[in-house]
Amino acid sequence: MMATSSESTRRLRARRLDQPDGSVEMWFERTDQQVTWRRKGLRGSSTGNWDCCSEPNCLGEVIAGTEKCFAHLPESHRRRHLQGLVGTQRLLSLKGNVVTASVVAPILEIAESGKFDLWVSFAGAVVEAPIRFRGCRIGGSIDLGGAEFKDEVSFRTCEFVMGLNCQYASFQTAVFHQCRFENILLLSYVECRGNSVILTDCSLKKDVSADGISAGLSANHCRFDGGLSIRYAKSASLVLDQSEIRGPFVVERSSFVHVQARSLQVIGSHRIGPLQVMGHCSLTESRFETRADLQIDAKVLDLSGVQMPSGGRVIAGRGRIVLRRLTAGSNVTVAGRAENASTPEVVSLRAADVGVMTFAHLDMRRCSFAGAHNLRAISLESTVSLASAPGNWRTRRRCIADEFACRHSASHSGAWLLPGTAMVGQVDDARILDESLPVELPVPKFAEVAALYRDLRRSAESAGNEPGAADFYYGEMEMRRHSDAEVPERAILFAYWLLSGYGLRAWRSFVALLAVLVMAVVIVHQWGFTSPNAPGPASSILFVLRAVLWRTSEPPGLTTVGASTAVAMVLIAPALLAMGLLAVRARVKR
Ligand SMILES: [Zn+2]
Repeated sequence: MMATSSESTRRLRARRLDQPDGSVEMWFERTDQQVTWRRKGLRGSSTGNWDCCSEPNCLGEVIAGTEKCFAHLPESHRRRHLQGLVGTQRLLSLKGNVVTASVVAPILEIAESGKFDLWVSFAGAVVEAPIRFRGCRIGGSIDLGGAEFKDEVSFRTCEFVMGLNCQYASFQTAVFHQCRFENILLLSYVECRGNSVILTDCSLKKDVSADGISAGLSANHCRFDGGLSIRYAKSASLVLDQSEIRGPFVVERSSFVHVQARSLQVIGSHRIGPLQVMGHCSLTESRFETRADLQIDAKVLDLSGVQMPSGGRVIAGRGRIVLRRLTAGSNVTVAGRAENASTPEVVSLRAADVGVMTFAHLDMRRCSFAGAHNLRAISLESTVSLASAPGNWRTRRRCIADEFACRHSASHSGAWLLPGTAMVGQVDDARILDESLPVELPVPKFAEVAALYRDLRRSAESAGNEPGAADFYYGEMEMRRHSDAEVPERAILFAYWLLSGYGLRAWRSFVALLAVLVMAVVIVHQWGFTSPNAPGPASSILFVLRAVLWRTSEPPGLTTVGASTAVAMVLIAPALLAMGLLAVRARVKR
């Protein structure tokens, strides 16, 4: 029989749960004898049915030997029925009932003894009264599946011997405080209209499933000895602060507005992502014992202080990524998605173990490299974008944000102000997490930036990335030229920069050579010979070229100026030529 074949059957108490990729629908149908409870979603459908109570429109399950559901039995009859069930494993059925305070009171009274040995099902019930358990060992089984709780549900310092099923339940608030779950906890497809499902200081010995949850889920200071599965979830928040997950941990195909897992310990295998987070995703100080696998698209992904002793990968689709103080014992890949239109941006590497990190498909234009550990072993792939040196006349090369900060603060030149950044003495950790604010950059000294470039150059060289190494070498020399080094060193660097672009710009040497030759010709033509022997322009050119290329005996009438010029040309021209040729060779070698 198809679930929806009967057009005439009315859907009662219909509910709908949002999922990232669709929705799950639930409803009841009632015929004269039977109540059918149906659930239908993308990942399957299920039904449950029971004989119905004789009260018109009641969806409750009839109590055997009577014509009524538990809620519709007279009160004395209810108590008698209940007493007969305690300590047995026969089920008290509240399925489909409308449970008021007076109906639930005798049930909750049993728990006041500190022992609850009753098997009870609230499946599909509407519970109008609060359900509160405190300091109780729950030996029986409680089924809250598909029930709608209009008031609070709370369990404090309770021990669940049997599994607790809350699948498809709708809560206002559900609180589990200092509870111990000896068996499974099912929170799949739970919704929560008031607050979140909150677990604090709980110990969960077996698996917990929160697949398809549309309630906020908060599990602080909890220890999960089994696995935790959160798939196809869509909700406002997921909080796992200071919890420990020892079994398999899976969060995938889910979307949250906000995710926070500070000091989370993930001991077992795990897979986090694909995960969509509208706002911030903060995993600060968390530790992933096995190889970390994070695929998270968030507005801000904060991995400050995260520990990855076995290495891992961080894949992001967009947003800001903060990696400060991230430590790793093995290789970590941090990458954007090549196929994505938007490129995520890394904004902080301070005190991070970048020596084991590989970066790809990322925007690192506003990222400071100052204070990163083991920079000389960093791997920046060519798909990482860095800022370009400003201005049309300036040499095209990839620059790091630290050079911009340093040059801007030294010269106050607008050209060296990187858009969307602000120079500060001390970077504010909180402000770097606010994606609406400019990225704060510390202001280093020229010598410090030179050291950063030197490390980056070495990393590029050891990766065989010659063009990258050349750009960083150029940056290193530029920073040394501007630094507080001794005057002779800076003078040599100035000449080296001007005449050959630090051995990387051949055209400069050739232009300089040409200029020197022209100058020599002019000098020779004007002052090189005594007046009766003064040569024409063509002869002056020939004289200079001869002087450079092969020594000739001094022609008659040569003045001291002419002779000096010839000697100077013998020294200068080959030097410039050699510089130019070396620069050409450096370029060809790439
Ligand atoms: Zn009834």
